[in-house]
Amino acid sequence: MTARTVAKRLAWHLLGRPSRLARRIEGLRAAGQMPILNLHRVSDDRSSSYGAIAPDLFAGLVDWMQERFTLVTFRDLADGRTWAKPPAILSFDDGYRDFLETVDPILSARGVAANLNIVPRVVDSGRPPLNVQIQDFIGQAPRSLLAETPLPGTDAAFRTRSDRGTLGLRASAVLKSMPFAEQERAFAALVPFMDSLGGFRTTPVLDLASLRVVAERHEIGAHSHDHATMTVETAAYLADDLDRCRRWFADHLAFAPQVYAFPNGAAHPAQIDAVAGAGYRHVLLVGERTSAPGNRVHGRITMHGNAPRELAARALGGRQSFGQGT
Ligand SMILES: [Zn+2]
Repeated sequence: MTARTVAKRLAWHLLGRPSRLARRIEGLRAAGQMPILNLHRVSDDRSSSYGAIAPDLFAGLVDWMQERFTLVTFRDLADGRTWAKPPAILSFDDGYRDFLETVDPILSARGVAANLNIVPRVVDSGRPPLNVQIQDFIGQAPRSLLAETPLPGTDAAFRTRSDRGTLGLRASAVLKSMPFAEQERAFAALVPFMDSLGGFRTTPVLDLASLRVVAERHEIGAHSHDHATMTVETAAYLADDLDRCRRWFADHLAFAPQVYAFPNGAAHPAQIDAVAGAGYRHVLLVGERTSAPGNRVHGRITMHGNAPRELAARALGGRQSFGQGT
């Protein structure tokens, strides 16, 4: 473990002191705020450079949250509704298969429903978003193959000296910064290298049959059709995306989604208005901030970590203050 990692863990350990967290929950309640936790994978699988939360840690987090909050979904946030404990939402993105295999059993045993935002292209193709496929590859390829693969935003020297986590984050960030048509071209250049890796396995995702099972117990929202970064797309692209999502949900799930989660949490103000104008009741971003039950646009808190205290401290907004206007 590096000195920096030790320092980080210590900082989260201190931020997660039980007395501090109890005060924060009071502050959050006084400010009328609610935490919306943005989650992705819950798994012990370490074959991707993209991290997952361990199942036992996740179960512990749900127990911890349930003692202090009422875990609801967006559809429960109807006007004026109140709860004895402050509300909170577990909001998953992308649609990984571990939602059905690991997350749902943990939640169902506790009588909890979550929000899950899916990407039609991911369901149809059976493969995760392009940036995640790259991180899967970086997690599995031998160093010699990584050195010769033209990963976005890297040169051979960077690929040789960086650890897999750093390499995955860099390649993913650079890919996500491109308009989707450009992402597809950059990804196509990597496919021969991925194909040369025998036994390469992308992170399993929900197929349509599994998604329908999940939809019986949880609130399914849209996370764009292709997982494009909307801040680098045109207004026409977004309008078309909203339309394609609606049609896909109508054709495959027989309902109209009420939640739209921007991929990578990235959106211009006019784009947020466009989603709300297209009939979605709840627009989700990230931003590591809490939200409020009456909001239509919600900040979410990105969840990751290796220790119960770290997850609890993150879940309450880390260092965010709950003063006026937060
Ligand atoms: Zn996503």
